[in-house]
Amino acid sequence: MAESRIDGCLVIDHPLVQSKVAVLRDRETTGERFRRTVHELTALIAYEATRDLTVEETKINTPLMPCRGHRLAKPVTIVPILRAGLGMAEALWNVLPEASVGHVGMYRDEKTFLPRSYYFKAPPDLKDADVFLVDPMLATGNSASDAATELKADGARNLRLMALVGCVEGVNRFRSNHPDVSVFLAALDEHLNDHAYILPGLGDAGDRYFGT
Ligand code: URA
Repeated sequence: MAESRIDGCLVIDHPLVQSKVAVLRDRETTGERFRRTVHELTALIAYEATRDLTVEETKINTPLMPCRGHRLAKPVTIVPILRAGLGMAEALWNVLPEASVGHVGMYRDEKTFLPRSYYFKAPPDLKDADVFLVDPMLATGNSASDAATELKADGARNLRLMALVGCVEGVNRFRSNHPDVSVFLAALDEHLNDHAYILPGLGDAGDRYFGT
């Protein structure tokens, strides 16, 4: 794991993460492999993004004797930004099976590149939960910022953002709007093109994941 040059943004530089990012970037990667790699990469990012979750002690019985164990002390909520975040949410849910899942629906106005919100649903215990907002591409940072604002308005107090690829502009915008929300990435790219796509990036994450 490495702290990026942007405060509050962790870019995970583990060899497995780097090699899986290369698979996602490669335009020759098949849809099946792309989906599998999104899932694997999300689980690896989750390892760091969940590192500071609070645990509490619990008593358990092994087949041989009683012993102390640990369990997560607070509820966990996973919130994908539709639709591209769905694959990450599925993978995160596999490692956090006790989590609830909310949804934020956003589409991007193709002229202004500004997000438009069309759907919001979150579980009732949001204010007590560790909330993981997931979206594979942190491009302009606008969708993630608006989604975090909606979650906070609904009570979320402890938020983290997980993305696969971010760019400097998007991370800066998100962090200036939400300095209390840590960002976890597998890669941090430098540029956005004129259509607000990340360069080199990996293309349209939702299209590649869903084969559209
Ligand atoms: N959304 C994507 O899927 N890819 C980008 O590069 C930017 C936004």
